[in-house]
Amino acid sequence: MTPFTYARAADPASALAAASAGARYLGGGTNLVDLMRETIERPAALVDVTSLSAEITETAEGGVLIGAAARNTAIAEHRLIRTRYPALSRAIVAGASPQIRNMATAAGNLLQRTRCAYFYDDEGSACNKRRPGQGCDAIDGFHRMHAILGASDDCIATHPSDMCVPLAALDAIVHLHGRDGERTLPLTGFHRLPGDRPDIETELRPGELITAIELPASPLAARSTYRKVRDRASYAFALVSVAAALEVEDGRVKDVRLALGGVAHKPWRAEKAEAALRGQPANHAAFLAAADAELADARPLRDNGFKVELARRTIAAVLGELAGEVA
Ligand SMILES: Cc1cc2nc3c(=O)[nH]c(=O)nc-3n(C[C@H](O)[C@H](O)[C@H](O)COP(=O)(O)OP(=O)(O)OC[C@H]3O[C@@H](n4cnc5c(N)ncnc54)[C@H](O)[C@@H]3O)c2cc1C
Ligand code: SF4
Repeated sequence: MTPFTYARAADPASALAAASAGARYLGGGTNLVDLMRETIERPAALVDVTSLSAEITETAEGGVLIGAAARNTAIAEHRLIRTRYPALSRAIVAGASPQIRNMATAAGNLLQRTRCAYFYDDEGSACNKRRPGQGCDAIDGFHRMHAILGASDDCIATHPSDMCVPLAALDAIVHLHGRDGERTLPLTGFHRLPGDRPDIETELRPGELITAIELPASPLAARSTYRKVRDRASYAFALVSVAAALEVEDGRVKDVRLALGGVAHKPWRAEKAEAALRGQPANHAAFLAAADAELADARPLRDNGFKVELARRTIAAVLGELAGEVA
């Protein structure tokens, strides 16, 4: 591990000042410290931002504001989240372990890095995300877990977060504080597709601090859920996951929100499926057709073609569950 200094930020201003001087933000440390141990990340200075707001409060508009330092467990267990955004609660509980969720923060979860094994193998593998221009050993290598949507010739990694999938489905907004003041970004525009710069993973500006995540008011979100399909029942990242919310009126889909995890470099908002479904009968055939509309763009590789059918069936099963079908 490379030597580093450690300080605690008392407020956003002191965090921003430390970042301007070159420090990296430290949340629960469950991802960053692992990457430092592996020398994938080598910050010379860390500024601990866990003393920033961890509050989970109702907004004046009836949504919920989650402080950046809120622990994943606190979010999953909060009454407002469990009752108004159950998909978020379920997604968090489907991830990692209780001990890790007790430490991990809301902001850190957004910025956790891919679990591509070649990314972690600094000594022996080529990885454009670690070293731009080096190549990507995953493309012809072991890529069963990798992306089927939105990948590039330079990187086929997936974003590993469960929490971000319902955040993408439920129109979450990320609150940021930087040198030029405060701004917001929709969660769906926060993470980037890899293109030819997979090392640049988000739209964050240098030193910008995440201060909160906002969930807008949404009656639809109260009927939301999350399903994660993985190799083991616990302690495994998603092969495919689905977050969905559905409103049915007179047997037809009045409104729907859908996002996928485990399939792309970012949490994947399934807008084509949503558009295909609005106004259609709320039945299995329509759910499969909507999944097909989204997955028509899938570009599977040698070993991950199964994800296309897995995503298709999981989308239909989750929508069926929300519609009250037996799934
Ligand atoms: C064994 C194991 C299994 C796991 N399984 C899963 C799983 O199944 N599903 C899942 O979703 N996740 C899983 N995780 C990942 C876990 O959810 C993340 O490690 C965690 O969410 C990261 O949060 P953190 O607060 O610890 O972030 P940190 O490690 O502290 O930081 C992560 C990144 O966020 C940045 N950062 C932190 N706070 C801020 C801020 N306020 N503003 C700007 N940048 C900030 C840091 O600089 C760093 O780049 C697993 C992790 C482990 C170790
Ligand atoms: S898929 Fe991305 S993270 Fe994995 S080796 Fe290729 S460039 Fe690196």
